[in-house]
Formats: sequence, C-alpha cells, structure tokens
Amino acid sequence: AKLHGCPVDKDELGRSTWNLLHTMSVYYPEKPTDEDKDRARSFMSILGKTYPCDFCAKDLRKDLKESPPKVESREAFALWMCQLHNKVNEKTGKPKFECRDVMQRWRDGWKDGSCDY
Ligand code: FAD
Repeated sequence: AKLHGCPVDKDELGRSTWNLLHTMSVYYPEKPTDEDKDRARSFMSILGKTYPCDFCAKDLRKDLKESPPKVESREAFALWMCQLHNKVNEKTGKPKFECRDVMQRWRDGWKDGSCDY
C-alpha cells in the first residue's frame, strides 16, 4: 500500500484526522470551562458536516447523534473519542483498541519506551 499518496486517499485522511482528534482529546483541559465544552462539541459537529469522505461523514453524524461528545473532563473526552474510533474500527473490520491505553498511545508514550526511537 502506498503510504504518502498524492492526493491523499480515504485511509491517509483517516490516519491524519485520528492523529488530530486523539491528540486533541488527550490534551483537552482536565477541568474544561463551558466555553471549552462548547468548542469541543462544535468541532465534532462541524467535522460531521465537513469531513471530506461523504459516507464517513454521514455515519459520523449518526454516531454523534447516538452518542454525543462527552466533554466533562479530559478523561471523559479521550475515552469517548476512543469509543468513536472503535465504532469505525468495527465497521471497517479493524481490531478494537483497548481504551484504557489511550493516554499511553496518544499522550505519555508506551511504558516500554517503544515511541522513543
Ligand atoms: P486508523 O484507524 O487510522 O488508526 C490510526 C492509529 O490509531 C492506529 O494505528 C492505532 O494506534 C490507533 N487507534 C486505533 N483505534 C483506536 C481507538 N479506538 N482509540 C485510540 N486510538 C486508536 N474509513 C472507512 O473505510 N469507512 C468509514 O466509514 C470511515 N469513517 C471514518 C470516520 C472518521 C471520523 C475518521 C477520522 C476516519 C474514518 N475512516 C473510515 C478512516 C479509518 O478510520 C482509518 O483511518 C483508515 O482506514 C486507516 O486505518 P489504519 O489501519 O491506518 O488506522
């Protein structure tokens, strides 16, 4: 599979977007203000209307309706994002990610140091 397509395909777009979404979620404030919460909710809602893969965006809108973003805390938002990604993984036949590991994968680095090279 080509890694850096030009223009980007659905998979590369997906990886780039998950990089942004998970990183955003694990750096979300631990004690968000009402404004922080509104922004996080709006971001996801607008993503559902602008994500440039039509069938992905359509499913995202449905997922957001069924399970609105949990924006009460960093932990809640990071876990919610992980669960959203797992819904997509399920649909596309990819393995389910252990959401308890989300901070290691996206914020602190794996305990075995495997991000350090
Ligand atoms: P990706 O799924 O892109 O994951 C990248 C990395 O994230 C993984 O290597 C893993 O380390 C980590 N990861 C995996 N799961 C989780 C999780 N649950 N929580 C935290 N980290 C995790 N593709 C389609 O074919 N159909 C769709 O309907 C579709 N909808 C999408 C909707 C959205 C909002 C986004 C952002 C992407 C969507 N995609 C869709 C793209 C798809 O999710 C993948 O990004 C793409 O198939 C490339 O997959 P990948 O195997 O490289 O890993």
